[in-house]
Amino acid sequence: MSNLVYFLGQKAYINITNACTNACRFCVRDIKDNVKGANLWLDVQNVSAQDVIEQIENSAQKVLEGGEIIFCGYGEPLIKFEEVKKICQYLRKEMPELKIRINTNGHGSFVNKKNIVPELKGLIDSISISLNAQDEKLYNELSQPKFEGAYETMLDFARECVKCGIDTTMSVVSKFQEDKYPLDVEKCEEIAHSIGAKFRNREWIQEGY
Ligand code: SF4
Repeated sequence: MSNLVYFLGQKAYINITNACTNACRFCVRDIKDNVKGANLWLDVQNVSAQDVIEQIENSAQKVLEGGEIIFCGYGEPLIKFEEVKKICQYLRKEMPELKIRINTNGHGSFVNKKNIVPELKGLIDSISISLNAQDEKLYNELSQPKFEGAYETMLDFARECVKCGIDTTMSVVSKFQEDKYPLDVEKCEEIAHSIGAKFRNREWIQEGY
């Protein structure tokens, strides 16, 4: 079984799918097959919650020591919403002191054809949503979403998270081919704050994140 649970520094990460509704130009999926040594390409596409839970149990001590577990891998975790919920329910019951975060592109409600945010409330401690750009045009160029209206979908998702009281951060990847993709970090920060979210600017690094 592939690395469904991996560690970067102290923290544990869950890599539950390789599918994504974006194809970001800076995505490490397209650049290499490992993040700091953890091979995240899944050799099975139908990963179940139980598969992930087994790997968490196998490294339970290490997971707990990190203090936080993060859904983040070579794909969009909320495409596997039902599995994510089951894993969170398991973690809340068995490791209640562990913080849970989801890193997402914000397309989860679109993909699942319903507003999933109220169901996430209480199951996670925080969410980080890829804002990626100050407007739809740059977003489409940078993230190459696979459906129309993806930028607005992502903004709506962030608004919903804030409304539901989830600790919400919106992020950008700066210093990535700025001549071709002119990111306005200040404007992005304004957008995040106008929604009521925190803001994070992560500089692009060749080795992946
Ligand atoms: S949303 Fe994340 S996983 Fe999907 S293509 Fe962009 S960087 Fe990669």
